[in-house]
Amino acid sequence: TNGTFRSLRIEKREDNAAIIWLDVPDVSVNTLQADFAQDFNRVLEQLSADKDLEVVVLASAKEDFIAGADIKMLTQLPDAEAARQLSRTAQQAMDQLEAFPLPIVAAIHGVCLGGGLEVALACRGRVATNSARTRLGQPEVKLGVIPGVGGTQRLPRLVGLETALNMILTGKTHPASKACALGLVDEVVPRPVLLEAALARARELVQENNKEPEAGTFQQVSRIFGSMLSLRKVRSLLLEKNSLGRSMVFNQAKKKVLSHTHGNLPAPLQALEVIKTGMEQGLEAGFKAEVEAFGDLAVSTKARNLMALFLAKSALKKDPGTDEEIAPRLVRKVGVLGAGLMGSGIAYVTAAKARLPVRLKDLKQEVLRQGLRTLWNAVTEQVKKRRMTAGEGDRVLALVRPTTEYTGFKQADVVIEAVVEDLKVKQQVLREVEAHGGPEMIFASNTSSIPIHKIAEASDRPEAVVGMHYFSPVPKVPLLEVIVTEKTVPEVVATCVALGKQQNKTVIVVRDGAGFYTTRILAPYINEATHLLAEGVSIQDIDKALVNFGFPVGPLKLLDEVGIDVVQKIAHILEEAFGERMKPTSVLAKLVSSHRLGKKNGQGLYRYQKMDGIFKGKGKQVDQSVYQSLGIKPDKKLEANEIAMRCLLPMINEAVHCYHEGILRSARDGDVGAVFGLGFPPFLGGPFRFIDNQGLRNVSKQLVHYQEQFGKRFTPASLLVDLAQQGIGFYD
Ligand code: NAD
Repeated sequence: TNGTFRSLRIEKREDNAAIIWLDVPDVSVNTLQADFAQDFNRVLEQLSADKDLEVVVLASAKEDFIAGADIKMLTQLPDAEAARQLSRTAQQAMDQLEAFPLPIVAAIHGVCLGGGLEVALACRGRVATNSARTRLGQPEVKLGVIPGVGGTQRLPRLVGLETALNMILTGKTHPASKACALGLVDEVVPRPVLLEAALARARELVQENNKEPEAGTFQQVSRIFGSMLSLRKVRSLLLEKNSLGRSMVFNQAKKKVLSHTHGNLPAPLQALEVIKTGMEQGLEAGFKAEVEAFGDLAVSTKARNLMALFLAKSALKKDPGTDEEIAPRLVRKVGVLGAGLMGSGIAYVTAAKARLPVRLKDLKQEVLRQGLRTLWNAVTEQVKKRRMTAGEGDRVLALVRPTTEYTGFKQADVVIEAVVEDLKVKQQVLREVEAHGGPEMIFASNTSSIPIHKIAEASDRPEAVVGMHYFSPVPKVPLLEVIVTEKTVPEVVATCVALGKQQNKTVIVVRDGAGFYTTRILAPYINEATHLLAEGVSIQDIDKALVNFGFPVGPLKLLDEVGIDVVQKIAHILEEAFGERMKPTSVLAKLVSSHRLGKKNGQGLYRYQKMDGIFKGKGKQVDQSVYQSLGIKPDKKLEANEIAMRCLLPMINEAVHCYHEGILRSARDGDVGAVFGLGFPPFLGGPFRFIDNQGLRNVSKQLVHYQEQFGKRFTPASLLVDLAQQGIGFYD
């Protein structure tokens, strides 16, 4: 009987084995859609009628196993009850899968995430490939929800409480080897033998089945002894067997969550409670608690914001970045000018992600060596994390060829410059590289503040000049802002967008102008923090307020990181372009004139320690002497929320200006840019989502309130006022 269902297909083999092929129609990666539970139920029903059947394997007919639930489907759930119903039916289908008379084994290659891992957990065995593509995890909390298909119950029972909490509360994913060491998969094999190994594992389980019905602690312990002999694991397993030990584990996990999320994210805390319920009151109660929590979270504003960002990111992957359909040019080689912090990072993503050959040029051998070392470190980290094999790592390193001349630039299709932030120097290298490069070469600048059209004035071919604005550290920050001047032709834009995607970046395209988009909205945010400081609010209070609000670092710490002199330069460019609302306080000038440049010279608002010749450390302690340099007494107390809103409002208001002026192509791009480039709290969805959620009238009112106190820098953007009057939101 070879049956077909919507997204599953049964293949019956001659040796009485059946393979359930997962193959969701019309998508490139399998996702769990609303009808998946029904499909599973019918497949199992059909298989149970087959009396000759001996073993069953569940495998994907696509490249990856299952990426998780269909997020779009989740965002369309009308209410919490509908979400609960979805979770309940999915749980029931997985119960059927688990209780099937024959052991079913999951054959896992590629991503096996979220609901996908929960399907695999309901199987009785799991075999995974050793491919770098294979990753297993429960990343639900990153979307503001918790596993809703039984994962909160099955995972701790399979791998132990500590490991399960670690995975579910952080959303971290694991490669197959690690998953095997954790007991999450039974065996790791090369891809070509995956199916055979899964079938063999199923036959093995049939035999074990006849002997022993259930795995107890002893078996778990001995399996771990067998696989990795980790005493720590054994200790934690034994610890988890008594309720005192468990409550210790839970308390620790809760503390960790709160220190990471500052209480802004309810999902990990809910997950913790649900897991606890299952541990203390049994499976049945655990499953019920999972349904309840999943239902509430799935329709919460924070989850919706996170899911909207996820969908925006996916949509941008398909967006060519230009309004007209135009094919990007083929890029075969990239030139990078400047092997400093940014240049070496750009070389890394070009070689490691886009797998393109790179010519990396700097003035001195010494700097090149340092740049290559940075590159080597980044590759080593990938190999360590098993995101890359050692062989791949070697190939990546071999792709980058250093030079102090323009040798090899003739064949470069795109040249990205990351030399010092100085218009004259940038124009100089532009002229040089145009003289050495081919006639079709694209010149992209990574400047963070100089308008691209000014750099392009030095070019013979301004139509091929564009901005490619990366963020530090380049290997980690996912955003790339492509900046287009009036002269840049669409083919050049499409080519840079395609290259950025190959470098694994989320790319937004913005129009040229002072500060583009990201720098332009960041500046008033940092500026307002310096206003607060000048008023006498302490550095610690300011940064803490914004970190608790959801930013990864506070604005004043960021000032130290970016460099106070750099921010000062940018502030002047923006003041020149936008006038009074961007006028910097005297704080920046005072700091720079007292030689406080931030982390780079070890003197800023925070204290740094010198190690190996450079200033390191997170700058945990405020340098108290800074108040004296500024002539400030830090004795003004403001509510944390007041501080946060003071900094946030000018930022989101500036985002509206950018939207109105056509700097942005859409509100979506504005949200993605702020979250993925600047660390805007993702659960707030980005500036535009935040304004919509708060209500345009409310935001406008708050701005007016501060405008009365502080003047023009809080004047609401005219578009905001107009839309508020009309009752239209940015996403309507
Ligand atoms: P950096 O000082 O670390 O690196 C600049 C490198 O350029 C130096 O190694 C220098 O030797 C080299 N260089 C100077 N003139 C050159 C020339 N004629 N040919 C080749 N190399 C030359 O600076 P960085 O932080 O990497 O910044 C580089 C650019 O990226 C700047 O325009 C900066 O505004 C921009 N940017 C920086 C950040 C950041 O966070 N640091 C973020 C976004 C953009």
